[in-house]
Amino acid sequence: MTWPPRSDDFLPLRDALVWAHKHSPYYQRLLDAAGVHPADVKTYEDFRRRVPRTAKADLVANQREHPPFGEFLAVPRERFGSLHTSPGPIFIPRLPEERGGTPVLKEAIAAMGVLPGEVAHITLSYHIMPGGLRLHRAFEEAGCLVINGGTGASQLQVEVARAWRATVYAGTPSFLANLGDTAKQMGLDPRRDLKYRVGFSTAEALTPQLRRELGELFGIELFDHCGEAQIGPLAGECRVHEGMHLHARDLFCEFLDPETGEPVEPGGIGEIVATQLGPRALPLVRYAPGDAFRLLPGSCPCGDESLRIVFIGQVGVIKKIKGVLVHPAQVHKVTSSFPELGRFQIVVDHPAGQRYDRAVLRAGTVTPPPDAEALKRSLAEKLKANVLIQMDVELVAEAEIPEAAGGPRFAETMVDRRHRS
Ligand SMILES: [Zn+2]
Repeated sequence: MTWPPRSDDFLPLRDALVWAHKHSPYYQRLLDAAGVHPADVKTYEDFRRRVPRTAKADLVANQREHPPFGEFLAVPRERFGSLHTSPGPIFIPRLPEERGGTPVLKEAIAAMGVLPGEVAHITLSYHIMPGGLRLHRAFEEAGCLVINGGTGASQLQVEVARAWRATVYAGTPSFLANLGDTAKQMGLDPRRDLKYRVGFSTAEALTPQLRRELGELFGIELFDHCGEAQIGPLAGECRVHEGMHLHARDLFCEFLDPETGEPVEPGGIGEIVATQLGPRALPLVRYAPGDAFRLLPGSCPCGDESLRIVFIGQVGVIKKIKGVLVHPAQVHKVTSSFPELGRFQIVVDHPAGQRYDRAVLRAGTVTPPPDAEALKRSLAEKLKANVLIQMDVELVAEAEIPEAAGGPRFAETMVDRRHRS
């Protein structure tokens, strides 16, 4: 699909809506109550304005009330091919033909330059959750020899990767760092004794620092990927490494302004809302897991025309300040380049008689800065350049900032005083 969608992207979406309404008691009730007759929905605009969203909490609550699968279920149990569970727990049955995201993962693997015959070492969990098995199947179908490493047992994993001369790593960047430490403790040189050439990095943020450190340690080129437990793989990097290309062949993904619900153009920040296309054991329509992405404008030098996205964070902590959507993770990227700084809060208010909001960054210091004024100036300049808004900066001891303001959840980072009387 393309974003914003073209008219021919809409037809599979309407088919999915018709199918979910016909087979899933949950969607039949939801759409009937909203007065939506799926066959009469003619355009994407119509779909967006009239079809209600499904939040993760709706799925969890409905499965609690009607265990184990809830009223979302669209096929009898005899047709299930597999049964996955994601944290919650949320039970996710799948039809054999759904193939759990394997086709798009194969494309993501090809985009990394992985060749048939390479040895791929998978270190995501194979237990209960879908991640490890899904990647295993995709690498197998891509023609690789696959090591089912799973999690933990780092020493054994190093031995196996070394014995098999694994050239492809797939898993979290932190576990790769762990394998590097383990290899060194075993008296090995990670770059010489392990042969990792490319890495499929997922399930965790791949920070520029981790990418650089792991690149130096192993001589590995890491490719960032993201997905979501219920809707599967979403996007992955190409060899240009500027944002992740949206795979979305069996998903219709919307990117909407978290405050207005309007479609976001490339260049903006949008909340993802996804509808699964094609028959599903447990179909999800306008499913909103609560994740926000920045959409990159322009086309990628690699020639792949698909939209590129950058994960920002959970949508609940985003605030619009002076007309710009701001996520604490963007501010954290800036503050983390100053070793004197730790947790922070962003206080937004609208001073009486003033035309604009005012934003104050209360930056917690872990060590007293040698020149506080210079630090404040430099911080304000970097914020303006990276987050695109002007903030006043206050330095306070880190102990004055609540622990819950820390990442990656940033639950108490944003303090909005604009609507108080
Ligand atoms: Zn590209």
